[in-house]
Amino acid sequence: MRKTKIICTLGPATESPEKLKEMIAAGADIFRLNMSHATHEWVKEIVGRIRRAAAEMKSVTAILMDTQGPAIRTGDLKNKLNLKPGDIFEFTVRGSRSEEQFSTDVNYDGLVDDISVGDTVLVDNGVMHMKVLEKNANRIRCEVLTAGTLGSRRHINLPGVKVNLPPLTEKDLADVELGAELGVDFVALSFCREAADILELKRVLREHGSNARTIAKIEDQNAVKYVSDIIRASDAVMIARGDLGIECAMEELPIIQRRIIKKCVQFGRPVIVATHMLESMIENPLPTRAEITDVANAVYEQADAIMLSGETTVGKYPVDCVKILDRVARRIARSGGAGYAKDAVVDTTRLKTVRSAVTLANSFPNSKIVVFTRRGYMADHASHLRPEGAPIYAFSPSADVVRRLALNWNTHPIQMPFGINPDHTIADAEVELERRGLIAKGDQLIILSDVMAGSERFDSIQLREVI
Ligand code: PEP
Repeated sequence: MRKTKIICTLGPATESPEKLKEMIAAGADIFRLNMSHATHEWVKEIVGRIRRAAAEMKSVTAILMDTQGPAIRTGDLKNKLNLKPGDIFEFTVRGSRSEEQFSTDVNYDGLVDDISVGDTVLVDNGVMHMKVLEKNANRIRCEVLTAGTLGSRRHINLPGVKVNLPPLTEKDLADVELGAELGVDFVALSFCREAADILELKRVLREHGSNARTIAKIEDQNAVKYVSDIIRASDAVMIARGDLGIECAMEELPIIQRRIIKKCVQFGRPVIVATHMLESMIENPLPTRAEITDVANAVYEQADAIMLSGETTVGKYPVDCVKILDRVARRIARSGGAGYAKDAVVDTTRLKTVRSAVTLANSFPNSKIVVFTRRGYMADHASHLRPEGAPIYAFSPSADVVRRLALNWNTHPIQMPFGINPDHTIADAEVELERRGLIAKGDQLIILSDVMAGSERFDSIQLREVI
């Protein structure tokens, strides 16, 4: 069993029913819908296709809707602009006109208020650097520092600038409403800047009757500053290295990644390492050795999941990308892990119970943790405490809970109805695990479940050998 989960962003290269099944067979655990590029019609169609493919493959495959968030973009240009160092460039708002040869409007009027003279403006995913020379009510005058060609609707990054856009734009709210209606399993908040942003997403989801788990995307300096609060407020975290690597100094990125993974393991939140994992495979059939080492590093750090973007949306080898992640993740996990869970916060009775079970599992070479979980929390705890060798088989009667557990490190979720008597449920689970070839004679099962004492239920740990 692979411990690290694989998330694949869907696009033209992978949207067909056949490709979806190939991706599931290769090891995709979660499909991501990037709302920066998706229409509502496409989302409705693809969600149905994913659910049908998963049912046919008998797989637990979850769906992650990733919001566009408060992204700032340049406007439409009739012709591309070739810019060179020393050129003057103006950004305009509120329909204002520039007298300069090079200018474009931006989609956010408040940019003029948020930005200061001396700030850096990065355009087109960090390709073009500009410095703010002066500003007035409707224009920002910049000096171009690096050469580049500016096209229409390019992404603007403002390192270190606190942007006063709301956490969820009108578009995000409409997208989240659709996600709730379609029952997506995860909703990611782009450019989450503080804990209040993710709490707002949770409120909106609740308002629409959705139990989807929230994912805070850490992608700018503000999010890094408040990362502990954001982690605690969210259900999961994504290290969105595309934007983060532009917004922060590049040499800081590996340090930030490690800090976030450590903190997520400490506070018990799943963590995703995203972007550029196999970037060269958009064009090439094999990755670079540096990419393999980057993937291996995330696996060694025991991130819950690794994510593919362009590789599986428009890449030429999407299925091969999944197979390579699968191979690397399996091999590297066998060689050990960072063990950050030794610093995990274990401050509730339930967490203490689960830690005892994990300690017991670690004391046997052939142990398996079997957890019965109605809402998923016991299974979450078992995964967050990163057992050394034992896989976690998580049984739940709820299809929604089972899909949400698809993100958790080393967790194999199985849907099964629970009986009134916990003992019968455990017996049914053992039969199911044997049928699937997941347990063998001599295995030590560490079972986390309810037991009945009179009419009361208690959490319990049992040790049973498979005979
Ligand atoms: C990223 O920036 O790394 C990321 C995952 O976000 P997006 O793909 O929305 O830019």
